[in-house]
Amino acid sequence: MNTHDPAARAWLPSANGHADFPLQNLPLGIFSTADGKQRPGTAIGDSILDLKAALAARLLTGEAANAIEACAETLNPLFALGAPARQALRTQLFALLHESSPARAELLHQTSACTLHVPAAIGDYTDFYAGIHHARNGGLLFRPDNPLMPNYKYVPVAYHGRASSVRSSPTPLRRPQGQRKLPEEQAPTYGPCRNLDYELEMGIWIGPGNQPGAPIPIAEAAHHIAGFCLLNDWSARDIQSWESQPLGPFLAKNFQTSISPWVITPEALAPFRAAQPPRPNGDPAPLPHLFNTADQARGALDLTLEVTIHTAQMRANNQPPARLSLGNALHLYWTPAQMVAHHASNGCDLHPGDLFGTGTISSPEPTGWGALMEITRGGREPLTLPNGETRKFLEDGDEITLHARAQRPGHASIGFGPCRGLVLPS
Ligand code: MN
Repeated sequence: MNTHDPAARAWLPSANGHADFPLQNLPLGIFSTADGKQRPGTAIGDSILDLKAALAARLLTGEAANAIEACAETLNPLFALGAPARQALRTQLFALLHESSPARAELLHQTSACTLHVPAAIGDYTDFYAGIHHARNGGLLFRPDNPLMPNYKYVPVAYHGRASSVRSSPTPLRRPQGQRKLPEEQAPTYGPCRNLDYELEMGIWIGPGNQPGAPIPIAEAAHHIAGFCLLNDWSARDIQSWESQPLGPFLAKNFQTSISPWVITPEALAPFRAAQPPRPNGDPAPLPHLFNTADQARGALDLTLEVTIHTAQMRANNQPPARLSLGNALHLYWTPAQMVAHHASNGCDLHPGDLFGTGTISSPEPTGWGALMEITRGGREPLTLPNGETRKFLEDGDEITLHARAQRPGHASIGFGPCRGLVLPS
């Protein structure tokens, strides 16, 4: 069966034409119902198929059955098994849900009645900085003559983040307190963050890991990726600018990182792979350990990315969310495989369930800038929303939602599901 057949329909009516989760997507996640028991599931239309229930009903076989058998409250065991298990599961789920198969409504739960969890136990979380337009826009605020550091086009720059505070959408965000000092202030004070921001990123889930001391060759790096999600790297800019010299982000970014809970598999995204856009004339070629012809030809992802804001006033007045940006994942300067190869290039061992953030993805145009810091130029130029409200940074009651959509002629469009977070007062 061709699991990308755009004409294929599911026996569940809500799946057919669903914006995010038609039969051709089949993302994996961890959910619970009222009984609170966390277990693996796949999103289909407005519902979740309980994979443990499917296993118990002997509807999964071979590698797919073994993979679901191994998973309890997280997907780490499935991630560790790599592409063969994922592909077997995808093929079997496609057949199980296809309209030519008998309906199995007893395996489904309404998504709206379920809780979605962080899908893996995250051993380590690393945030890259691969959005070159974001890096340039950020650099322009501080170094107008030389916005990009000299290493940028050679090294997929990153820092080690914190795994404990990665939360699943739609967990609200408590405005952090911290030590902050604005440039015009003489001394720092401790208090609620005044310049709270979001960052539009993609998350990359690591599948099979590598042994300590054994780098992952670039040609094999894509096999170490289990899937993708959306990631909001909430950032306290006033805390960040004061604390991060010289060692980089710390408390300004580890109070919460929000992710969309569904793991969109490399198999689901196969039709939306694209060539890495050619580097501008004059840019250096990647060093050989980061360069692979197949990765350059097929390693990027053509995904539309959108950020919306829904303020307390908009909700009170029944107004829809307002768009803050519309961009595309093709604006990343490094491919996911290059990030994996770079991370392991010194022998650092990656593990199933490790999470990478790509870095903020901004377009060259202001309509696709992925953080308020860029849109308002560090708060100097407030943004006016359609209802007349203005923002330099986020206010309490603002809800930020990230969206990702894949569409290509001849294929069923799929989405990631939202990555949502409401800002609560300190
Ligand atoms: Mn970031």
